[in-house]
Amino acid sequence: MEKDFDFLKVGMDNDITNNIPKEILIGYKKKINKFLSTARKESKLQKCFYCKEEKSSFCNSHSIPGFCLKNIATDGNVYYSNKLNNIPFIDYEKGVNKSGTFQLICRECDGQIFQEYENPDNYDKEPTPQMLAQIAMKNNLKKISKRLNEYSLYDILAQGAPYMSNFKDDMQQVEKMDLKEDIQDFEKAKRLSKKNWEDEYYLFYYEKLDYVVPIAFQSSVALVVDLEGNIINDIYCTKETHRIEDLHICVFPLKESSIIMMFIDSKHKRYRKFYKQFKKLSHEQKLALVNYIIFLYSEDIFFSKEIPDEILENQKLINVAQQTSMFMTSDRSISAIEEAKTIYDLNKKNDIPNLLSKEYKLR
Ligand SMILES: [Zn+2]
Repeated sequence: MEKDFDFLKVGMDNDITNNIPKEILIGYKKKINKFLSTARKESKLQKCFYCKEEKSSFCNSHSIPGFCLKNIATDGNVYYSNKLNNIPFIDYEKGVNKSGTFQLICRECDGQIFQEYENPDNYDKEPTPQMLAQIAMKNNLKKISKRLNEYSLYDILAQGAPYMSNFKDDMQQVEKMDLKEDIQDFEKAKRLSKKNWEDEYYLFYYEKLDYVVPIAFQSSVALVVDLEGNIINDIYCTKETHRIEDLHICVFPLKESSIIMMFIDSKHKRYRKFYKQFKKLSHEQKLALVNYIIFLYSEDIFFSKEIPDEILENQKLINVAQQTSMFMTSDRSISAIEEAKTIYDLNKKNDIPNLLSKEYKLR
């Protein structure tokens, strides 16, 4: 549930980092990059996660189809969402080939298993069930990769700081539970991705806009509350019976248009109220809500460099992007989930610039 790199934000208030001399920041940044690459190396698997064959090298799989990034790139470059999080240690400007990747499957598999959904010609009409399954499969792989990295990060952390070993054990226990669910979801998507099985995923929102939006996004999120404040995922519930239910969201910029989609696993009944509420919204409000959910729940957003600076520096947008569910133990008299209900209140959707609206179109 926590966003990427949340653990790096502990004690790294922007006011503090802004006052640190640049040489020290660069040194720190190098250390953290080494830390991250060690974690990645340690979490590296021997076998391809898809074909289960032993491989010596893995593919740098994109979390989003390459054509989406090309359609918003300027001279081959895009911004990655850390831009909004002001973490000075991680580069936010990235070439299209380096953005948001994970290493879990082999090159052969990467070239084959996402083919239908990664072909821009397949977006003339609504996506097929097979395409949705491929998207869900990719989202699950990305989650699994992230968890494996986090898992080994806690090992490295505890090696360097033995007093943190209890914290490490607790966190790894949580990771293991989540990982089990992610792998089940992945196996299901894998089975469904091979041909067109109807009704396994429910696409409740599909919109083709006649303009190109300046952001690209593909990920799953676990909504905490719906539009009326009803809890969908109690992220603090540790009961194994409370399974986290994911919402898959895609924002795919094409050459002259854009595709916006939301879908769920049809068995995930806790989203029923949410999609009924969603369907009652106007066209503009639907886009505003998708935009808000993306910024509130995820950091894997790609931005065109053509977006005006004043938008990316919009304080409300930055505040929303920096929300985190991880360290909110300020008031013990309010339960964590009650506090989360306020943080994840979707009725604030019009407080931030809506980058999916026509106003910010690239062309
Ligand atoms: Zn493979």
